[in-house]
Amino acid sequence: MPPGRTNDAAPQPRFRVGLGYDLHRLEERPPRGQGRTLVLAGVTLEHDRGPVAHSDGDALYHAVTDAVLGALGMPDIGQLFPDTDPRHESADSIVFITEAATRAGASGWRIANVDCVVVLERPKIGPVREAMRRNIAAALGVGVEQVNVKGKTHERVDAVGEGRAVEAHAVVLLERAANETA
Ligand code: MG
Repeated sequence: MPPGRTNDAAPQPRFRVGLGYDLHRLEERPPRGQGRTLVLAGVTLEHDRGPVAHSDGDALYHAVTDAVLGALGMPDIGQLFPDTDPRHESADSIVFITEAATRAGASGWRIANVDCVVVLERPKIGPVREAMRRNIAAALGVGVEQVNVKGKTHERVDAVGEGRAVEAHAVVLLERAANETA
């Protein structure tokens, strides 16, 4: 098949890669612990700011969800779970990531590995990094060693660097499940 033409009869690849990205604005929380808490991969971080979001604003779960859905060639999280749907008001984002994992399995794919970057000026995610890895691994039904999470600051520049937003990036590699390769 020459370049410039699609070939629907081509054998399906054994691997697919997906990229996910999310950003949530962070606003100062009212006193006495009110307002949304900053949650990343299901882990609550001590912070005087919280995400502005329709759901719980878990940017890391959202990025991983979009990476899995992207690898599958499916619509993204915003299309599957619209923020106009009242059922997703304050939703625990574990629902989104587990749905993406379920769709991957149902389509004959298994997750080979996931690599993530959280860009957050403060607090440092080091102390909760392992908890984040464990939560993502459990949500996807894979081993902890298949999930990596790294933390970066934004060097005090732009909105993220000024602490006004949190950003998350994720890539996922899907491998055709063994029973699909025969
Ligand atoms: Mg989001």
